[in-house]
Amino acid sequence: INPSQNEAAQTPLMRQYWAAKRQHPDALLFFRMGDFYELFYEDAKVASRELQLTLTARDREKTQPMCGMPYHSVEGYITRLLRKGYRIAICEQLEDPKLTKKIVKRDVTRVLTPGTAIDPTLGSSENNYLAAVHTDGTTIGLAFLDLSTGDFRATEFTGAAAQQQAADELEKLGATEVLANPGSGLLDKSPELAAALSRSRTKTSVDDYAFSADYALPLLERQLGALSLEGFGLSQHRAAAVAAGVIVHYVRQTQQNDASHVDAIRYYERNQHMHLDQVTVRNLELLEPIFTDAGANATLFRSLDCLMTPMGKRLLRSSLLRPLLEPADIQHRYDAVAECRGDLIQREQIRRALGGILDLERLLARLSLDSAGPRDLLAMAASIRHLPELRADLALLNTHLWKSAHERLDTLEDLHQDIAGTLVPEPPLTLADGGVIATGIHAELDDLRAISHSGRSSIAAIEERERQRTGISSLKVRFNNVFGYYIEITKSNLANVPADYERKQTLVNAERFTTPELKEYETKVLTAHDRSIEIEKQIFGELRRRIMAGSGRIRKTSMIVAEIDLLASFAHLAAARGYTQPLLAETSVLEIVSGRHPVIECLMEEAGEGRFIPNNLYLDTDGPSLLLLTGPNMGGKSTYLRQAALLAIMAQIGSFVPAERMRYGIVDRVYTRIGASDNVARGRSTFMVEMMETATILNTATSQSLILLDEMGRGTSTYDGLALAWATVEHLHARVGARTLFATHYHELTILAEQLTKLKNLRVAVKESPQGIVFLHSIEDGPANKSYGIDVARLAGLPAPVIQRARQVLKQHERSERMQVAAEAEAPLQMTMFTPLSQHVIDRLEQTDVNSLTPLQALNLLEELKTEI
Ligand code: ADP
Repeated sequence: INPSQNEAAQTPLMRQYWAAKRQHPDALLFFRMGDFYELFYEDAKVASRELQLTLTARDREKTQPMCGMPYHSVEGYITRLLRKGYRIAICEQLEDPKLTKKIVKRDVTRVLTPGTAIDPTLGSSENNYLAAVHTDGTTIGLAFLDLSTGDFRATEFTGAAAQQQAADELEKLGATEVLANPGSGLLDKSPELAAALSRSRTKTSVDDYAFSADYALPLLERQLGALSLEGFGLSQHRAAAVAAGVIVHYVRQTQQNDASHVDAIRYYERNQHMHLDQVTVRNLELLEPIFTDAGANATLFRSLDCLMTPMGKRLLRSSLLRPLLEPADIQHRYDAVAECRGDLIQREQIRRALGGILDLERLLARLSLDSAGPRDLLAMAASIRHLPELRADLALLNTHLWKSAHERLDTLEDLHQDIAGTLVPEPPLTLADGGVIATGIHAELDDLRAISHSGRSSIAAIEERERQRTGISSLKVRFNNVFGYYIEITKSNLANVPADYERKQTLVNAERFTTPELKEYETKVLTAHDRSIEIEKQIFGELRRRIMAGSGRIRKTSMIVAEIDLLASFAHLAAARGYTQPLLAETSVLEIVSGRHPVIECLMEEAGEGRFIPNNLYLDTDGPSLLLLTGPNMGGKSTYLRQAALLAIMAQIGSFVPAERMRYGIVDRVYTRIGASDNVARGRSTFMVEMMETATILNTATSQSLILLDEMGRGTSTYDGLALAWATVEHLHARVGARTLFATHYHELTILAEQLTKLKNLRVAVKESPQGIVFLHSIEDGPANKSYGIDVARLAGLPAPVIQRARQVLKQHERSERMQVAAEAEAPLQMTMFTPLSQHVIDRLEQTDVNSLTPLQALNLLEELKTEI
């Protein structure tokens, strides 16, 4: 339907509707009509489908589909649509329908988008990020904001890998909405970014002008209340600053509010933290489990999360994505954790005080965006009330970070007093109900309340006084809705009516009068309620402004509370689970004595499934720098690999670790090449993804990195895979020198230990018994002497004849292999009969789009492929 067509034929209401819709064509328009919000046309169809609401129509011919919901239950529907990635424009009635005879004025007052949601149902330990990308041609700037907490950051990428890196960062953050400008061509030129954008839930185009430095930078400065961006580390980073300005532009546009809690931004660069790319974050299950059926608990985040505050939980999450690199910073954390671990009473007191502190950041955001009610402010006051107690607890600790937190923690007592002194202790949900502001704050408000409360007794007093004055004992003062307050006098007493009474109404046997005093009283009572609510709103607004003036202080306090929470929770974990303090080394060593996998250990304990078997690990760039781990599937290879990385990450966020002892040199980046990744679902073959990930490792790892390679070469034919794995091991050994764990089912690789001095063979221990093999889950020196693939298959329940036949075939194959190897000692890698079908042929077939081939091309392809078999 084209709204501009037959405009004249439309009703005034629909003209109004289309005017609003035209301004927000990409949003679902919620159109307020009395007690309902209505959606029309396509919007109605979408809403009825997504929310399972009945689709009706405005007209008999059913050409105007419509779908509605009562205004008081709209929040829930909106939240559901936002989660699904929709934008919503709310078109409100701007005047009281009772007060106008013409059509009510309406306009869009708010636009809600997935990335700017601040509803209270957001997961408290998660951030909801709105991101923006901008490029000036050479540099890509990325900014992101969690409007619900005010967390605002920006970064930049340059160089050949900039697009990949920006895409990676975007995915790692899991932004729910990304702003980009169609005019920049950024997306056309960068398949990586385009792919990342298509995976973030909502992509929003913002007008090109918002991306110009002349517009975006002053806007950002104004938002931050700064004359220059210097203080935020942004003056040298224009691309990042412009992206940040675009976010400000968008927030102001959609919220129609200046979001004054967004008053600071942090510029960061990747090399300030241990680098963990998106693939590694996923593979290691830091935040999300790979297989959700294993339960949401199977993540490092969950197993470390014993934080008391939502701010603390969010800090743990972001710390896991960005572990520290600076040894001094890490050591300070260890010192603080050690001190707090040793002091049970202090620790418990700190954690108890933290337990009383609610989500200060989100409360502040709601306040700033004008969606906070009286109870939100009281929740803030109740939280602030615990700060002095917390500060006093900190005073008893002596290490650097505790002392610094003690000094920096602003206990905000003035704000607490202000809120607690202004509001009643248990206010109603909204201001409209009245009764929010305490008595004794505002003289007129107290009077007004006295009037509406004491209405009856005042009437009685007037009645009594007038009876005395006139001598009419049957005189009544009454009220009705049509005439308001009146004095009623029966006909027989009319002679005694004083001259100042004004006639109002005549009844059969009585007359009704009013007096100037009564009139004044009437207006006072009738308006008292309205007026008192108005005053309450005004006082609340002033209180809100005073608290907002302290928003910077509140946010700083909230950040310090999060730091305290993080350190105290590390101390709690160390005490509760026997974690120990890692030792920082100057060299690139990684030594773990009796280490346990932090997540599996917890899960096993919870399920009562026995004990995790501790293992040792020793890696050193001077050798052994590369551990080649062989042994049967299910033996514990992946667990051993991941455990090493998880412990390094835990150590570098300042946590103690599940090991008897750990000594390590800083890890600059963890690389993982593990199993099939979800990239496969994105249309690349397993093998291609595997090789791209391996290429990244070989090209960018440094001697300070930690590399995990699990089952490399699985996606291709055995001998291709073996050859590539072989060459990769050699390259890592000779050129990269990073601490590397290489788990493989290619036994052939184990002979490399004879030539490569820094390579060491390890195997997972198994016990062979007549009933089959038993996994011991311990790691031993030396290569595995056989692959046990058939044994594992037997455990899995493959039919006995198949197992028998497999053993025969294996024996034959091994025999012929030995002969071949003897014959060609120089080139042990050969294609054999065991390669079922050339991988090349499979790859070609996979890459072919059959639908786009002409019959002739198809025939030619077939012929070509035939020659390759
Ligand atoms: P692989 O990579 O060799 O196939 P996994 O690392 O996936 O083996 O481990 C297989 C199973 O053994 C997993 O269920 C894991 O929980 C368990 N497991 C691994 N290592 C240990 C250990 N050290 N102690 C107890 N159970 C372990």
